[in-house]
Amino acid sequence: MNTIDDKTIVKDYFNATGFDRWRRIYGDGEVNKVQEDIRIGHQKTIDTVLDWLKGEENLASLSVCDAGCGVGSLSIPLAEAGAKISASDISEKMVQEATKRAKETLGESNNVTFMVQDLEGLTGEYDTVICLDVLIHYPTEDAGKMINHLSSLAKSRLIISFAPKTLCLTLLKKIGELFPGPSKTTRAYQHREKEIVQILENNGFKIQRKAMNSTRFYYSRILEATRN
Ligand code: SAM
Repeated sequence: MNTIDDKTIVKDYFNATGFDRWRRIYGDGEVNKVQEDIRIGHQKTIDTVLDWLKGEENLASLSVCDAGCGVGSLSIPLAEAGAKISASDISEKMVQEATKRAKETLGESNNVTFMVQDLEGLTGEYDTVICLDVLIHYPTEDAGKMINHLSSLAKSRLIISFAPKTLCLTLLKKIGELFPGPSKTTRAYQHREKEIVQILENNGFKIQRKAMNSTRFYYSRILEATRN
């Protein structure tokens, strides 16, 4: 399957059944046990990145690109902490929801702007480019191209997360089962950390920090890479 096919499937999914499912997981209403487990795991990923960035003295002067921002789970608290965020997502529905949530939390603050845009089409330069839990939707070859593009936007730092391939393969099936109905073809791809690190190094980055967040149904490796 090529990128266009994967991208179209992913986009359609996150504008339909995927939107409903993930909007609930990334919320605080009632969800089933599996979804609750994923919610907790995902929140750990968000908290890890927030901790890393809030540790910066210059957060208010930091320009951040949140590529594949979903409902704004990272962008909104980061904007609340003072950073300037350009958030974007391939799914119009996700962006609408993120905009609504930002207004509820941030009022008239203009620290975050949301845009419907696939990450391959993003332009500009940002101090920090972040892409969380997006690469799981693409095979490693396409994920590599995405990382290359995100690298070109990052002046000094790139933070990405992905499902590592080293974990038992049943995980793949478990995640796959989370995509219901007609969108079953939306696959979950795992990536070998070695390959992802190599791609980052080829783009002139060096790994600074790593974290692993996992629960029963959620696995996410986070890498922070800075320019050499
Ligand atoms: N990064 C968010 C977070 O961690 O809360 C959302 C993660 S969600 C699992 C994946 C998101 O990536 C979805 O909102 C989806 O629409 C978006 N996405 C998938 N492919 C994309 C692409 N090629 N460009 C931009 N966004 C994409």
